[in-house]
Amino acid sequence: MARDKNAERTSALAGLTEPDLELGPFVKRAKPKDAIIQAHWRTARDEDDIAWAILDKQGSSTNTLAQPVLAELDSLLDTLEKNPPKALVIRSAKKNGFIAGAEISEFKEMKDPAEAEKRLGQGLDILARLEKFPAPTIALIHGFCLGGGLEVALACRYRIARDDVKLGFPEVMLGLHPGLAGTWRSLKLLDPITAMRLMLTGRSLDGRRAKRAGLVDSVTQERHFAEAVKFAANGKLRLNRVPAWRRGLMNLMPVRAIAAKKMIKQTRAKARPEHYPAPYAMIEMWRTHGTNSRAMARAETKSFVELMSQDTAQNLVRVFFLQERLKALGKTGGEKPDHVHVIGAGTMGGDIAAWCALKGMRVTLQDREAKYIAPAMERASKLFKRRYLSPGETKAAFDLLIPDAAAYGLEQADIVIEAVPENLEIKKTVFAAAEAVMRPDAILATNTSTILLEQMTPLLKHPERLVGVHFFNPVAKMPLVEIITHAKLDPKITQRALAFTGAISKFPLPVKSAPGFLVNRALTPYLLEALACLDEGLKPEMIDEAAEKFGMPMGPVALADQVGLDICLHASNEMRAQLEIELPELPGWFEEKIKRGDLGRKTGRGLYEYAKGKPKKKKLESAPDPALADRLILPMINAVVACLRDGLIEDADIADAGMIFGAGFAPFTGGPINYVRNRGIKDVVETLKGLERTHGKRFTPDAGWENLT
Ligand code: NAD
Repeated sequence: MARDKNAERTSALAGLTEPDLELGPFVKRAKPKDAIIQAHWRTARDEDDIAWAILDKQGSSTNTLAQPVLAELDSLLDTLEKNPPKALVIRSAKKNGFIAGAEISEFKEMKDPAEAEKRLGQGLDILARLEKFPAPTIALIHGFCLGGGLEVALACRYRIARDDVKLGFPEVMLGLHPGLAGTWRSLKLLDPITAMRLMLTGRSLDGRRAKRAGLVDSVTQERHFAEAVKFAANGKLRLNRVPAWRRGLMNLMPVRAIAAKKMIKQTRAKARPEHYPAPYAMIEMWRTHGTNSRAMARAETKSFVELMSQDTAQNLVRVFFLQERLKALGKTGGEKPDHVHVIGAGTMGGDIAAWCALKGMRVTLQDREAKYIAPAMERASKLFKRRYLSPGETKAAFDLLIPDAAAYGLEQADIVIEAVPENLEIKKTVFAAAEAVMRPDAILATNTSTILLEQMTPLLKHPERLVGVHFFNPVAKMPLVEIITHAKLDPKITQRALAFTGAISKFPLPVKSAPGFLVNRALTPYLLEALACLDEGLKPEMIDEAAEKFGMPMGPVALADQVGLDICLHASNEMRAQLEIELPELPGWFEEKIKRGDLGRKTGRGLYEYAKGKPKKKKLESAPDPALADRLILPMINAVVACLRDGLIEDADIADAGMIFGAGFAPFTGGPINYVRNRGIKDVVETLKGLERTHGKRFTPDAGWENLT
C-alpha cells in the first residue's frame, strides 16, 4: 500500500518537473523509421510530415557551428529539398542550449584571408539555402543561441524560444562582428538601433526582451513546444515583426548618420579604434549601406576577413582560450562548498559574502559587532539590484546571506574566509578563534594581499588547510581570484579552493606565495613609476594617456587613486621590505598627501580632484611621447618575467591570463608575454637596457628574459 502511495506521489511530481527536451519523433532517443542519422544531426518526420532536424554535436556537451556541422546540414538540405516536408524544425539535443556560436578553435586557420573567405562563403551558401527552403523553417530555441547560432536562427522563417533563452552576438568580444549574414539579417528584421546595440555590446537578450525586440516570434515553455511547432507549420503562428515604417524611419540617411555618430562617440568612450576596430567597422557598414542588404552582405564578408587576419582578433581568440583554461581549473572536480563563513565585513569581506550568496551559497558574515555588518548588507542590496534580480531572486539571495556577529556559522562552514585588516596580530587572533571551532575538514582561507602565507602558517595548528584566495577590488567586477599556495598546503585543499572559485563564477589562478603574488607584484613598479614621472613634473593626464594609448583600461595615476593612496603606500612598503629589487623612490609629497587625508577617489581628492566619483582631467595639448608608455609598461612586464623565472606561476599563458583578468592588461595584445613575443624579445630587452641607462637599475632586465622564447 505504502509503495503505491509513493508511486502516485512520484507520478504527480513528474508532471511538475521540467519535461525532457521536445524532440518531435525522437521520443526518448528511440530511432524513428526512415530517420536520417549523421554524425552531428539526426532527422526524422513526425506524423504531420514535419521534419525535425536535431543537432547533437558529437563528442561535445555544447553545440557549436563547426565546419562538419555545417557540411552535414548542407547535405541534409540536399536530401530534404528533393521531397520537402510540411515544415522543417531545427532544434538542439543539448541541455544547455541551441548553438553557442562558431567553433572558435577554427579561427586560427582563418587568419589566412583566402581560407577565411572560402569558409565564410560555404557557410553563407548553406544558410541561404536554409532561408530559401521550400517549406516553413522553424528554429526551436532554448538556452544559449549566440553568434553563429543566432545566425542559423535568423535564416529560419520562425523563431520559437523557450523562456530561458539567451540570444546575442558576442563576436565583438573576439574583435569581430557576425560573419554569416548576421549583420544584415538582424538589421533587416529589427529596429536598426536594437540590432546595432546587440552587435556592438555583445550583450544577450532574454526571452522577454527578445520578443519585445522582434527577434523571436513566440516565447513559451518546453511543454508547449510541440503545439507551437504545429501552429507555425500550419501558418497560424503570427510573425512578430517590427513595423516596416519604424525600421524605415530609423534607416533614413539623416537619422542613420546622426545615430552612427552617437554610436561612434559611445564606442570611443570604451574602446579605441586602433585597438578594437570591429565595432567601428560595424557602424561604418550600417552608415554606408543602411538598407541595402546586398551591399552590406559583401561588406560584411570583406570586413570580417580583414578583421580575422589582424592581430586584435587573433589575440582575443587567444584570450578566449586562456579564459577557458582558467575556467577548466575551476572545474577540477574538487568538492564545492555549500556554506561559506566570512570573517570581516569590510570592503572585501562584505562584497565576497554578497557575491557568494548571489551565486547560491549559504553565507554567514561575521564582524566585531552587528553595526559593522550593516553597511555590507546595504551594498549587497545594491549588488542584487544591479544584477537585475527579480524580487523572488533577491529574497532568495538575502535568505542565503546571514549576518552573524556571534559567529554561529563558523563551526558549520565548509570554507572560512578571513578578510580582516591587513595586520598579522589581528589575523592571529582571528585564526585562533576560528581554529578552535572550525570543522576539521573545513578550508581556512585568507584574502591577504601583502602578508606571506609562510608568515601565517606558524600561527596555525593546521597549516595544511590554509590557502590564499586573493580577490580583487571591486569583487563583483573583477573576474580573477589568485589561489595562493605554500609548501605546507594539502593539495586537496588547493583543489577545493579552485572548485570554490569556479563555483562562484570567478577564474582561479594558482600562484605560489611570494611578495605581491603575481598581479600586485607586477602592478607595483607600474604605479610607482607613474609617481616618479609625476615627481619629474609630468602631468597626470599625460601619464594616464600614455598607458591608455598602449591599451590599459585605466592609467596608473587614476588607478592609484582608485586603489587608495594609503593602500598603495602600504603595498609598496611591504614589497620594498620583502623583495630585493629596485623600485622607484616614493616622492616626499606622496606621504604628505596621505597624512592630509587625500587618499584618492574615496576621499574626493588624491592625485586628481574628483567630482561625482570621476577625476577632473585637463585636456592635453599634445600627445604623450611614445617612450613614456615603455617606461611605464615595461617594468610591469619585467616583473611578470621575474615571477615566471621564480616559478610562481605555471607558465607564460597563466601569466598572461592573470595579468589580463587581474590587472586589465591590454586584452587585444593577448597579454604581456604574448605582447613581447610579438614585438620581439630582443627589442624589449634592449629598450629596458636603454631605460636603465637613463633612469637607473630599476629597469635592469630580469635574468628570466634569457629563458623566454
Ligand atoms: P576593511 O578595513 O574594509 O575591513 C576589515 C573588516 O574587518 C572591518 O569591517 C572590521 O570591523 C573587521 N574586523 C576587524 N577585526 C575583526 C575581528 N577581530 N573579527 C571580525 N572582524 C574584524 O579591510 P579590507 O579592505 O576589506 O581588507 C581586508 C583584507 O582583504 C585585508 O587582508 C586586505 O589586505 C585584503 N584585500 C584588500 C583589498 C582592497 O582593495 N581593500 C583587495 C584585496 C585584498
